Amino acid sequence: MEVERTFVMVKPDGVQRGLIGEVVSRLERKGLKIVAMKMLRIPKEMAETHYAEHREKPFFNALVSYITSGPVVAMVVEGKSAISVVRNLVGKTNPVEAEPGTIRGDLAMDIGRNVVHASDSPESAKREISIFFSDDEIVDYAKVDEDWVYER
Ligand code: UDP
Repeated sequence: MEVERTFVMVKPDGVQRGLIGEVVSRLERKGLKIVAMKMLRIPKEMAETHYAEHREKPFFNALVSYITSGPVVAMVVEGKSAISVVRNLVGKTNPVEAEPGTIRGDLAMDIGRNVVHASDSPESAKREISIFFSDDEIVDYAKVDEDWVYER
């Protein structure tokens, strides 16, 4: 079990629907540590960079338009195996298939309005964190509950 950092974002629909607290709360209650967080409106070019792997997909333009349509809340989240832990909390891309108990399974209906983003690999986590945060925006600190969340 390696300590990892992953990039998580409440998308514009999540912000508009008042789900920032719900998403952050689920991450915190799991035992994950938020080490960076900010609200921003994503510029078009930044959205195209973030979703570069989908550039040729038919949904690319709609995706860029969705993600730039309003403010988002971007986070860096830390914990043991954080990348897969967060992906499991988030659920499948299509909310129709996402399991109940997951964020998308509980809170979303449509693949084009699926509330959250989370990195899917160590490479994408590193890349996405560097798009949204500079090194000095990520805070290194110990949390008081760490001995209760992890068996040392
Ligand atoms: N997406 C979409 N239509 C699709 C596939 C994906 O609108 O047919 C959007 C959806 O918002 C998804 C994002 O594109 O979250 C990125 O897709 P990816 O396959 O990377 O899914 P994720 O990693 O977000 O689960």
